Amino acid sequence: MERSADVAVIGGGILGLAHAFAAAKLGKRVVLFERSQRASGASVRNFGMIWPIGQPHGEMHVLAMRSRNIWLELLKQALLSYSAAGSLHVAYRDDEAAVLQEFAELAAGLGYQCQWLDTTETLKRSGALRPDGLLGGLWSDSEITVDPRLILSSLPEFLRERFGVQFRYGTVVTWIELPRIQAGAEFWKADCAIVCNGDDFETLYPEHFATSGVTRVKLQMLRTYPQPDGWLLGPALAAGLTLHFYPTFEVCSTLPVLRRRIAEETPEYDRWHIHGLVSQTAQGELTLGDSHEYGMFVDIFNKVEIDEVMLRYVSTFLRAPDLTIAQRWHGVYAKHREKPYLSFSPADGIRIVTAPGGSGMTLSFGLGEKTVQEMGL
Ligand SMILES: Cc1cc2nc3c(=O)[nH]c(=O)nc-3n(C[C@H](O)[C@H](O)[C@H](O)COP(=O)(O)OP(=O)(O)OC[C@H]3O[C@@H](n4cnc5c(N)ncnc54)[C@H](O)[C@@H]3O)c2cc1C
Repeated sequence: MERSADVAVIGGGILGLAHAFAAAKLGKRVVLFERSQRASGASVRNFGMIWPIGQPHGEMHVLAMRSRNIWLELLKQALLSYSAAGSLHVAYRDDEAAVLQEFAELAAGLGYQCQWLDTTETLKRSGALRPDGLLGGLWSDSEITVDPRLILSSLPEFLRERFGVQFRYGTVVTWIELPRIQAGAEFWKADCAIVCNGDDFETLYPEHFATSGVTRVKLQMLRTYPQPDGWLLGPALAAGLTLHFYPTFEVCSTLPVLRRRIAEETPEYDRWHIHGLVSQTAQGELTLGDSHEYGMFVDIFNKVEIDEVMLRYVSTFLRAPDLTIAQRWHGVYAKHREKPYLSFSPADGIRIVTAPGGSGMTLSFGLGEKTVQEMGL
């Protein structure tokens, strides 16, 4: 039996859900196909940080802010919990303070709303920081934190109930020749297809991915037990290593000094591309990470050394009651070597959108809206 929809979305990660939402909001009949019984790709394995401050100024920051605003509307409509506590990038070294202060001066002109806080003001924003040696921090209220596990399990239900989106889990799409789509044992007809395949470069359009400039990135992550007595992290935290990781701070003339010092003093951080970020779930657990290993082949085993280095780094600025690790995992995302994400049409009516790198949660709903506009839906 052949079934039909206006729009077929392939992939049930956050990009697939965001595109399904964007098309369904326009009144389209949407079906979404996901290979696994539950989404288990990058989207359910991340920090849940909606992090516009991580985007470089201009087009990408504007897109991230638009995405953040759609996130907020949707979270409220779907009654899903989130934290709008903002973010703090903290400085314990002179070179870190120099970059953050320089950025704070440039920020308003570049479209960011953030400010440099001295030590006392920084500690007022977060009781989770080690006071010894703290020089100050960059405060921004734009960042929000969601629980990816909650989002990936609850959002499909909301889209089904509110917009009639149909979901086919445990269903791999192996062939698309519009209007016909082969999805597992079913044949579907759709006017157009949006492929949000994450890092699966082998099933659909392998010939395009082979030459597209994408690669895989593996990240190790840690999660603590719930913190005792309702202890709250407050804003999500980032520190010195983040400053040479996100392109945002490349406008700062003070950045090369910080980069040189990290490379000379702590090459193990550079070796594993460690990036000390901390967020908190509604249950009080702290999510800590992350590391980055680049390449198409992904080692299925985690490296104990990476976990140790990450924990050591995070402990230089985080003062939480209990850093006992309850869960360890890794995630893999697709990344383009030069572009912030990949969006192209391999055939009429078909759009592939993937490889938003470490910013897919942040950009998802902005990208969904942009794609449906560009496709003229
Ligand atoms: C550890 C970690 C931490 C991160 N932290 C953050 C963060 O805090 N903030 C942020 O903005 N970003 C973060 N990211 C990045 C973000 O998670 C990704 O960019 C984003 O999840 C990518 O979403 P996606 O939908 O493209 O991919 P995925 O979530 O991997 O989903 C792709 C889905 O498509 C399915 N699929 C593929 N091919 C087919 C097919 N042919 N048929 C059916 N189904 C198919 C797969 O099964 C998969 O479920 C992090 C990533 C990781 C790994």
